[in-house]
Amino acid sequence: MEFEIKQVRSQFPILAQEVHGKPLVYLDSAATAQKPLAVLSALDNYYEHDNANIHRGVHTLSERATAAYESVRRKVKDFINARDAHEVVFVRGTTEAVNLVAQSFVRPRLSSGDEILITWMEHHSNIVPWQMLCEQTGALLKVLPMNQDGELELEKLDGLLGAKTKFFAFTHVSNALGTINPVKEMVERAHALGVPVLVDGAQAIHHLDVDVQDLGADFYAFSGHKMYGPTGIGVLYGRRELLEDMVPYQGGGEMIRSVTFSGTTYNSVPHKFEAGTPHIAGVVGLGAAIDFLRALGLRRIRAHEEDLLEYGTKLLKRVHGVRLIGTARRKSSVLSFVLEGIHPHDIGTILDQHGVAVRTGHHCAQPVMDFFKIPATTRASLAMYNTREDLDALATALEAVKGVFA
Ligand code: PMP
Repeated sequence: MEFEIKQVRSQFPILAQEVHGKPLVYLDSAATAQKPLAVLSALDNYYEHDNANIHRGVHTLSERATAAYESVRRKVKDFINARDAHEVVFVRGTTEAVNLVAQSFVRPRLSSGDEILITWMEHHSNIVPWQMLCEQTGALLKVLPMNQDGELELEKLDGLLGAKTKFFAFTHVSNALGTINPVKEMVERAHALGVPVLVDGAQAIHHLDVDVQDLGADFYAFSGHKMYGPTGIGVLYGRRELLEDMVPYQGGGEMIRSVTFSGTTYNSVPHKFEAGTPHIAGVVGLGAAIDFLRALGLRRIRAHEEDLLEYGTKLLKRVHGVRLIGTARRKSSVLSFVLEGIHPHDIGTILDQHGVAVRTGHHCAQPVMDFFKIPATTRASLAMYNTREDLDALATALEAVKGVFA
């Protein structure tokens, strides 16, 4: 498929609507991306023709549903270049993946006084599970700081990674700032001290080429809904030997080999971590999203988004009173900003009147807001279907916002 923007946009029917009498300008894809026809029809097709529960059935529909579900596992494996499909665990999303690793991998290896390292720019879903774990075990949470551009202070990493560090969890791309972190280098430095690593890939998987073997991370988590797939489905990649060595996260059907009242033996990985009936349709939709991304090519999508990021950055800098939050040298698809004297919630509400959908608030990254001493930002986030005209509409609507408060 050629990357032709009109053709790309035609695949997203939701975009062709008006909001408050204005053409919709959707700049909130970091919260959730819109879904192409290929994903919508994969979901329809699954429910129309193949719907059945998986793994246990001997009838045709169950076999078809099982084959579809397991084929997506292999598709994900190829997409992220995992060694084998057993390293792909289907979960609800990034949040569940982090909680799973915290409870099943880290908790049994943690004693009071041990340390877990995260960074200042984490999403709450990569902070709170670790805080809960610290409460449960008496471990301590350490935080790698960042600078005013929203770049991690990597020179402080070796001082924070020590004999007591039992785990390091950090984001690939910051949802609040857009910063792209040097994952490979950070993983190498943690591994040099024997510290296992989880990377939160929620904002990276659909923008960057993710090769888990090359990055070297022990765990990599992402959500289907940010990568043009359905909500309620995501992936935890884990190195097979680690997954095999982990206790289950939840108990129930599917995750067992045999159950008696005197004891239960567990299924092999990854099924050991997929208790209960999974989101089968979601997995099918995720597979369609991966096909869609691959057909367009992540490199071409990235080139388009980089052009938009550069264009949007210049445009916003020209709007008097705008201060960009997040000015890292390596950035992806996020334009977070404050506008002097006007609260982001007011900005968001007025922009909506102009058809422009942005996110305002702390973006589930309150420590980032505290760092910049602001309560919230307005965040415009970019996806493959955005255009320079979308950013022009944002800039024009921002002038209108300023007019209201003049
Ligand atoms: N990490 C980052 C960087 C995110 O942007 C998000 C979603 N905003 C999450 C984690 C959580 O993802 P989910 O809500 O899909 O579990």
